[in-house]
Amino acid sequence: MSMDLLLLSNSTMPQSDYLEWTADDILTFVGDHKKVLFIPFAGVTLSHQAYTDKVQGALPSLEIKGVDDFEEPSSAVQWAESIFVGGGNTFALLNKLHTSGYFDLIKNAIQAGKRYVGWSAGSNVATCSIRTSNDMPIVCPPSFEGFNFFPIQINPHYTEAVVENHGGESRLDRLREFVALNEEPVLCIPEGVGVWVQGASLELKGKYASKMLQKNGRLVEIKHNQSYQIGALQAM
Ligand code: ASP
Repeated sequence: MSMDLLLLSNSTMPQSDYLEWTADDILTFVGDHKKVLFIPFAGVTLSHQAYTDKVQGALPSLEIKGVDDFEEPSSAVQWAESIFVGGGNTFALLNKLHTSGYFDLIKNAIQAGKRYVGWSAGSNVATCSIRTSNDMPIVCPPSFEGFNFFPIQINPHYTEAVVENHGGESRLDRLREFVALNEEPVLCIPEGVGVWVQGASLELKGKYASKMLQKNGRLVEIKHNQSYQIGALQAM
């Protein structure tokens, strides 16, 4: 079964409401699969209910339920036609997915054809591992492995901006350290970009250019609104 994924870099653009920049894309992507289970575990300083309400408020035409609306994770996943995973802290998210029992259930459901939308931390966990998250490891999940729905590492909120007079590593410094020690390339997606994955192909939607960072440290710009085979992107 081919997987349908929408992996977004971020939730909020300046001067616009929560998820507003991508709401049309989310609705098109979801289509008739409007019964959505929302996973709020990345929201460390926000209650599950408050986070779920925020997402429902941004997407009123969908029927969104949170994890606290169900007694058992298995009934939540069974009820859902689509699963949305919100942003926040990626380590907290992955840890809670494991300790709550949701990890394997979601993995199986998406592999069986339910739709997956993730933003930021929710995009990180959809890949093979969370090693290219920007977050601090504030908790220790049992493993850094993600759902592996998408076989390329993602760096969300990608920026090449450097802070003047700041001695710490830039984003690119950190990502180049990753590719120096690992084989996998990294898909670097700036704010306002969504990766639409349909089976073995994908399209990048958004105004700003994404880049592939290769093992040798080479950065290759990816054209938007054009279809790519995932394998071709990995080999770029
Ligand atoms: N903290 C980010 C988010 O979910 C994830 C990341 O930057 O890696 O918004």
